[in-house]
Amino acid sequence: MQSVPLLDLKAQYTTIRDEVTEAINRVVESQYFILGPEVKALEEEIAAYSGCRFGIGVSSGTDALLVSLMAIGIGPGDEVITTPYTFFATGGCISRLGATPVFVDIDPYTYNINPEQIKAAVTERTRAILPVHLYGQVADMDPIMAAAKRHNLYVIEDAAQAIGSEYKGRRAGSIGYLGCFSFFPSKNLGGYGDGGMVVTNDPDLAGQVRRLRNHGAQPKYYHQYIGGNFRLDAIQGAALRVKLKYLDSWTEGRQRNAATYRRLFAEAGLVAKPSTVECLQNGCLAAGDHATCNLQLAAPPQVVMPTELSDYRHIYNQFVIRAPHRDALMAYLKKRNIGCEIYYPVPLQLQECFADLGYQAGDLSVSECAAKQTLALPIYPELTDEMQQAVVNAVAEFYQ
Ligand SMILES: *Cc1c(COP(=O)(O)O)cnc(C)c1O
Repeated sequence: MQSVPLLDLKAQYTTIRDEVTEAINRVVESQYFILGPEVKALEEEIAAYSGCRFGIGVSSGTDALLVSLMAIGIGPGDEVITTPYTFFATGGCISRLGATPVFVDIDPYTYNINPEQIKAAVTERTRAILPVHLYGQVADMDPIMAAAKRHNLYVIEDAAQAIGSEYKGRRAGSIGYLGCFSFFPSKNLGGYGDGGMVVTNDPDLAGQVRRLRNHGAQPKYYHQYIGGNFRLDAIQGAALRVKLKYLDSWTEGRQRNAATYRRLFAEAGLVAKPSTVECLQNGCLAAGDHATCNLQLAAPPQVVMPTELSDYRHIYNQFVIRAPHRDALMAYLKKRNIGCEIYYPVPLQLQECFADLGYQAGDLSVSECAAKQTLALPIYPELTDEMQQAVVNAVAEFYQ
């Protein structure tokens, strides 16, 4: 039986081994390990790639978020509105600065923050909105920017999963005040270790991020601000510059694989009919009653495909389906050596560390429902048609 990993970084590495080795060796030979010319060049290239004036290399996607929030002065007493259906760092960084994350529910189709929920969450303490472009598709930014303008708020884009994705012709990271990328190895542009970048069009914010990533010093040893060590290594800069050249072709590979999944799932008769999806949204989600979830009660096989909106460029960091009997399906796929993962099993408002924020089960029911039903399938560019067929066959066999 064909086994299919969720991600195969070696498959990609073997295609660029010589180039990356040469780039890393160049840094080692120079003995210039921190920031320097490779990082500066990467900053310019990523800024240009994202349609921004400035790029500031940092130590991780998490630190990109943290230093961006620091740059706009977020601190105790402040509130930042964000999505609960995301990687922990999005909410964690807000709390680490002593501010309060205010979670609002998500759109059931895209899993991104629901802009309609933002207005009711704004208080006199709100300072910023932090949307996440989940799975590689940009959040609905026009109403988010309009709400920010109305209430005089900053917007920071968590684009950790979305480098190169587009919204109405604009690149992820270039729409808000600051955009944050991650180069964690499993991201679409993954480094050879941790790394990240902040992009912006605002020269003052760029300068502040640049100072804060190096202890807030300017000039060296003179500190008007308290920053930290959030610097990007030169080895990462050199390796990422090699990989950036291939990013668009890898993205095309992911998009091609997404289209193949849609075709194969449809051919297997596994795709939920629109009425089922409708039912799922209006019945289960509105009621917030997962025990009577329509999707789970609906006779399988009915799997909901990801929603790809028109006028967006979805870069498929993940290909995420909604599936009845999700946990049993996942166990079955793992037994068959088909890689899959839940992003994310617990929405942030229900994490133990955020218990003091006072959210109850049922408060943000769309995110809770997604956490119980979503499953990410392998989508990396080097997947073959045979491997994708094996994934779909295994799903079909589970529901037989
Ligand atoms: C990966 C990720 C981060 C954190 O990036 P790191 O580089 O791992 O610190 C933040 N937000 C989201 C949405 C992510 O997917």
